[in-house]
Amino acid sequence: MSELIKKQLVIDGKTENSSNNETFLSINPATEEAFAEIQQATKEDAQKAILSARKSFDGGKWRSASPGAKAKVLWRIGELIIKYRDELAELETKDTGKPISETKNIDVPLSADLFRFYAGAVSKIHGETIPVNGNFFHYTLREPVGVLGLIVPWNFPLLLACRKVAPAIACGNSAILKPAEISSLTALRLGEICLEAGLPEGVLNVISGKGSVVGQALVDSALVDGIAFTGSTNIGQNLMRSGAVNVKRLALELGGKSPNIVFADSDLETAIKMAAIAIFYNKGEVCTAGSRLFVEEKIYDEFTEKLSERAKKLVPGDPMNEKTRLGPLVSKEQLEKVAGYVKIGTEQGAKLSAGGEKFDIGNGGKGYFFKPTVFTNVENSMTIAQEEIFGPVLSVIKFSDVEDVIQKANDSLFGLAAGIWTNNLKKAHYVAHKINAGTVWINTYNVYDAASPYGGNKMSGFGKESGMEAIYEFYTRSKTVWVDLNF
Ligand code: NAD
Repeated sequence: MSELIKKQLVIDGKTENSSNNETFLSINPATEEAFAEIQQATKEDAQKAILSARKSFDGGKWRSASPGAKAKVLWRIGELIIKYRDELAELETKDTGKPISETKNIDVPLSADLFRFYAGAVSKIHGETIPVNGNFFHYTLREPVGVLGLIVPWNFPLLLACRKVAPAIACGNSAILKPAEISSLTALRLGEICLEAGLPEGVLNVISGKGSVVGQALVDSALVDGIAFTGSTNIGQNLMRSGAVNVKRLALELGGKSPNIVFADSDLETAIKMAAIAIFYNKGEVCTAGSRLFVEEKIYDEFTEKLSERAKKLVPGDPMNEKTRLGPLVSKEQLEKVAGYVKIGTEQGAKLSAGGEKFDIGNGGKGYFFKPTVFTNVENSMTIAQEEIFGPVLSVIKFSDVEDVIQKANDSLFGLAAGIWTNNLKKAHYVAHKINAGTVWINTYNVYDAASPYGGNKMSGFGKESGMEAIYEFYTRSKTVWVDLNF
């Protein structure tokens, strides 16, 4: 076995061990072998990171740096992310099972883009002068919020960390980043990269460890002014409850069960290909996965048959191979969860048209590989159509017309994203306006950009990330100033 990669916490401008020197192992889901040993932060470490962030924010060095000076550091972070692309991509692939072609060409470049976008945005953050009654000069200031806890999940560890870190520091906040236990490596590396780029000590601290210990410590601390959280709805609800104690500022990016709607008048070959990508990209471990596919009645049989054939041909493989398009699920726990949902789907009467079982890539059954799975004859009320599976399992549901599909698509606790496939422009916009979701893709799916606001409705959370909206919705607050102009 090759030597374990070792990673330390990033606190107050230094890399260091946890206060009790405890570590945890990171398991490569493709081999089931440990490949990294990571420092496990304690409550004391969380406290230390919070105090460091507090000191850096209250000291004002970064917060009051000029927009130009901030932009230079942000741009440099983006450059360094690209410089270390191969290293970051390999860490991410070994941690999560994402194919190396994706981590190299999607996760890493999009992460760098976020820093470049916010490097440009820093000089465009401003308040307003507002005419009011009376003889007053009245204006608003846009200020950083203070110390922020940034808590992220395991499915896009680097990208989702950058989505929070870039706007947080661009706006002059100080932060503590807490990655998910099973995917901490690239977040810790990001902390080191930020220091190398010249970000002052304490502005970004990164602590790996248990959510219930260090994540919770961030939420409970009165010294933390806000929490930006991406993760499951369940934990998001808990954070709202505990955050209520200090009336904590919150942004929550939670789960999804996104409808992907195919009308008979769409370009069917493209729709089939993209319906598969919408659910199987990143093994379905995507919050916006198009996991409920609605297909118009008159094309349902032909469409589902072709789609199932396509799914059968999509074979998982070694994620370190450049040609692989589908890697293993992130963990044993996730594999068991997905297999459990397949069982429920079959028991509730859905028809298993493709996949549905673990897959051996030819390495003695090692790795958490799962075949791309398609269920047809699904009713929208079934468990597999209502609960977030977070795996490569597609539920295909029939609909009769526009109003029928709008009703069914909106019949969900979630409201994160939706897809619409049609060549009828009027219909596309009509349905886009009627769907309760934070993002709607028309004749495309799962496209993202640093400039594009992103967030969910209903139990998918609230608050927007990316773009200028993130700055105004979460990472800055407004202060009103009244000046009496009467002599
Ligand atoms: P999770 O909720 O289990 O964990 C997310 C993060 O919260 C982790 O860092 C975890 O350590 C931390 N955490 C756990 N308990 C905590 C506590 N008590 N206090 C503070 N922090 C705590 O989610 P996951 O399993 O890592 O990720 C999968 C989920 O994330 C899915 O539900 C998925 O939909 C969601 N997700 C949403 C988006 C989005 O943008 N809406 C994006 C990606 C993933």
